[in-house]
Amino acid sequence: MSEETLKLDGDPQGVVTRFAPNPNGPLSIGHARGAVVNKYLTQRYGGKLLLRFDDTDPRTKRPLKEAYGWIQEDMEWLGCGPDEVIYASSNIETYYEYARKIIELGQAYVCRCEREAFKTKKNQGIACPCRGNSAEENMGLWEKMFAEFKEGEAVLRVKTDIQHQDPALRDWTAFRIIAGEHPLVGSKYRVWPMLDFESAIEDHIRGVTHILRGIDLMDSGLKQKYIYDYFGWTYPEVILWGRLKIEETGKFSTSKMAQDIASGVYSGWDHPALPTLRAMKRRGILPESIREFMLSLGLSDSAAAISLETLYSINRAKLDGSANRYFFLKDPVKLYVEGIPGKTIRLPLHPTFKERGVREQCMREGSCFYLSKNDSQVEKEEIIKLMGLPCVSVDSLQGSIVKGKYVPGNHKGAKKIQCLQDYIECEVLKPDGVDIGYCDPDCEKIGVGEIIQFERYGFAKMEGKNRGKLRFIYTHD
Ligand SMILES: [Zn+2]
Repeated sequence: MSEETLKLDGDPQGVVTRFAPNPNGPLSIGHARGAVVNKYLTQRYGGKLLLRFDDTDPRTKRPLKEAYGWIQEDMEWLGCGPDEVIYASSNIETYYEYARKIIELGQAYVCRCEREAFKTKKNQGIACPCRGNSAEENMGLWEKMFAEFKEGEAVLRVKTDIQHQDPALRDWTAFRIIAGEHPLVGSKYRVWPMLDFESAIEDHIRGVTHILRGIDLMDSGLKQKYIYDYFGWTYPEVILWGRLKIEETGKFSTSKMAQDIASGVYSGWDHPALPTLRAMKRRGILPESIREFMLSLGLSDSAAAISLETLYSINRAKLDGSANRYFFLKDPVKLYVEGIPGKTIRLPLHPTFKERGVREQCMREGSCFYLSKNDSQVEKEEIIKLMGLPCVSVDSLQGSIVKGKYVPGNHKGAKKIQCLQDYIECEVLKPDGVDIGYCDPDCEKIGVGEIIQFERYGFAKMEGKNRGKLRFIYTHD
């Protein structure tokens, strides 16, 4: 499936790729594509995957200390564990060294213009007065950025072409002053590199051969190539891919999720309504399903809109053989049947794999059964077939109570209905709430973490017990 669409030009021997998420929360399904495809390329062509934390903005992209570990855990779970982990914030001195070199080359300058004034000039293609300073003057000013200048008073710019047709590429900012606490390095640094500078240096010194990059970030490569040219370096191969829009996840950003978790809207990062890998794992979406889904998208640079339904159908096919079947009667109602003979009913745990055994129910004469409320919409005198049990003719419907009597024989075309006589109370946690009901007594034997299928309801994963009830989490239908 992915052999052709994920092929690299020139059939390289050994590749180094990198995955560089923002450490401000755990990974979401949208991140998985980068992790999966980068990992795949290192496995296919040999080489290594770097996990790099571009954590050099302690203000607007302030890292979350716990997120570093979460991201590594998420990658391991996904089967895309990195071969090396790099923290940009622990490599700041290296970026300073390269800044000094580029100043010496006369290709960077400290700009002390007021931000808006610079922008106006730049947009007109006019150089600011700082651009003409000598390398020595710039080196002196650069040193002052570490002690004397305050935030906003000076930035280091990389010289490009001040009349470049795209104003965004003209003399871009490489370093600025931010006096703030960083969760890993505290207040050790106040001159911080911009992402484009840091990432350009990192890619080179780590020997990155291939960069997978969203087409919306195409400018980054164009900016960084100036640095590569000044140093005489070769820029890595870039594969641009189109934006991936996952229909169900549009409204969730990491920062919004963090806010909603803090304010109690969601119980945590693994709440089933959230598109995080933690929530997927909790629900029973298999990591191999996510990998298959992401690889199937290939490396196209056109935008794609996809639905999680596609992921669910891949996952469903993988779970179908392993998940044993049980009944879940949501919002149960009572059914009284007269004249039913007592016997033990045995239904297979899996219709295809009979060797797995059966779930048993003792049917006792003259007792009450339970149906799901959805199944209780029956007509008077209608004959219904209780699954695994005989047929019943409906006598009366009073509120939520159904009464009927046993009718021997097979009645073709009778509506098939799930019912239980003995039951265990259970609840199924869904993205939008909790379904309450009864399930087979044999559900007691399901191990925590096991994924089963509630017939006509959907797949669910056993989470244990909650206030005496069995607790499941909904996977998908
Ligand atoms: Zn200036």
